[in-house]
Amino acid sequence: MPPTSISQRAAQVIPGGVNSGQRLIPGLTDLVIASTEGARFTDAKGRTYTDYHAAFGPPLLGHNDPEVAAAVAEAGRRIDLTGVGVTEGEVELAEEIVRLVPSVEKVLLTSTGSEATFHALRVARAATGRRLVVKFQGCYHGWHDSVSLNVISAPDKVGAQDPISTGILPEVLDATLVLPFNDIPAVRQTFAEYGADIAAVILEPVPHNVGCLLPDLEFLQSLRDETTKSGSVLIFDEVITGFRHALGGWQAISGVTPDLTAMGKAIGNGYPVGALGGRAELMELFSTTPGAPAFFAGTYNGHPSVVAAAHATLRKLQTEPVHEHVFRLGAAIRTGLAEIFTELGVPAVAHGYGSVFVSYFMDGPAPRTYTDLLRNDASRFIGYRRRLLEHGVFELPLNLKRSHVSYAHTDADVDALLSATRAAVRDTLAVGGEQELAGTSTMGGAS
Ligand code: PMP
Repeated sequence: MPPTSISQRAAQVIPGGVNSGQRLIPGLTDLVIASTEGARFTDAKGRTYTDYHAAFGPPLLGHNDPEVAAAVAEAGRRIDLTGVGVTEGEVELAEEIVRLVPSVEKVLLTSTGSEATFHALRVARAATGRRLVVKFQGCYHGWHDSVSLNVISAPDKVGAQDPISTGILPEVLDATLVLPFNDIPAVRQTFAEYGADIAAVILEPVPHNVGCLLPDLEFLQSLRDETTKSGSVLIFDEVITGFRHALGGWQAISGVTPDLTAMGKAIGNGYPVGALGGRAELMELFSTTPGAPAFFAGTYNGHPSVVAAAHATLRKLQTEPVHEHVFRLGAAIRTGLAEIFTELGVPAVAHGYGSVFVSYFMDGPAPRTYTDLLRNDASRFIGYRRRLLEHGVFELPLNLKRSHVSYAHTDADVDALLSATRAAVRDTLAVGGEQELAGTSTMGGAS
C-alpha cells in the first residue's frame, strides 16, 4: 500500500518523519504544518492554532513579519552568496551587535545557535589550553557532543553526565562537569578542585530549556569571580534570552558580563542566523590569518538574506514598542494563570520572565534549581496542554517546555488563552492519572 498522508510519506524518507529532535509529539504524530501568520499557524487539515510554542523562540515579532519578509525578499533579488570577502550588511550587523550587547567587542556570524556555542567552547580551549567545561543542570547548548547533555534526572546524579545521545565519546563526557544551577558552593568547590583545568563555564543565564529558572545575581557574580580568578572563560548562552528579554540580553539586565556570548533565535525572527561575540582578545583567536589558533568557517555564514532578516528584526525591536507589548502580555498571562490555579485549588506556579511563561504543577515557591522541578507533576503539565489543542491553543505538550508571546499576540489572544487554560486544567484535574503520559518521556530533551 503506498503511503497516503504527508506524515506517512515523511516517515518513509525522513528518519522519525521530522527534521529536528522534538518535532514529533506523542499524540500529534500526524501534524503537518501548512502555513503561518502573525500569532498563528494552520495545519494541513485546516486547523488553526494560536501559537505560544513559537518554534522554540525565534519569532518574537510573530510569524511572517511583513518588514522582515520584505527585507529578505529585497535581499534575495539583489544579492546572494559569493563565499569571498564581506558584505556591507554583515559589517553593519556586526556593528549593531557590538553596540547593543554590553560584553561584545567583536562578533562572528553563524547559521545556528549550536555553531555559536560549539565555537565558543573551541576558542575557550584554544585560549586556555585546558580541557574541562562546566555546565549546569537544565541547560541545553545545542546538539553537539559536549553540551548536548540531557538534563540530569535524579538529584543523586549531580556531577554525572547523562548524554542526550549515544555515539558521544566517553572522553567528551569526562571533560564535561555538570553542576546544579544557582548553587554557589558547588561552583566554588569545583573551582577549588579543578580550577586549573577548567577552560570554560557555559550557562543559559536563565535556563529556559526547562521552562524558567531565574538566576540569583550572586550566583552569576560568583561565576564571574571564579572564572576570572582561575583564568577560565565565562560563556553566556543567550540564544533564548538575547534580544527577547532585552536588546543587550541577560547581561544587560543583570550587569554581569561574560567573556563570550552565543546568540541566535530572536535575532533573525526565525531566519537561520546566529552569532558568537565577545572580548576582542578572545575573538581574535579566530582571525583567519594563517597560524590563528582557532578555525572558524561556514559556507552560509553571513548569508545576505538572513543578515537582512536580522537587520529588519533589530530595527523593529528598536523603533516599535515590541518589548513593552510582549512584557505586558506576558505579565497578564502569568497573573491570569495564577488566579485560575487559585480558583481551581490546584497547586501550581505560574512562572517565567517577560514574554516567556510556564506553569509548573507543584507547590510554590518558584523553582530555582533543576532538582526543584522534579516536584512538577508531568502528567498534569502535559495533560492540560494536550487539552489546550482542542481549544485552538498551541503550547508544546512536552514536559517543562516554556511558552512565548510575540508582538503579534493581542489582548484578545490572552483572554482566549486564559479561558482555554481554565477549561483544560479543570478537565485534566477531573480525569487525572497516568494515561496523560502515554508514549511520553517525562524529562525529554531540549531545544
Ligand atoms: N542554546 C540554547 C539555550 C538553545 O535553547 C538552543 C536551541 N534551542 C541552542 C543553543 C541551539 O541553537 P540551534 O538549535 O539554533 O542550533
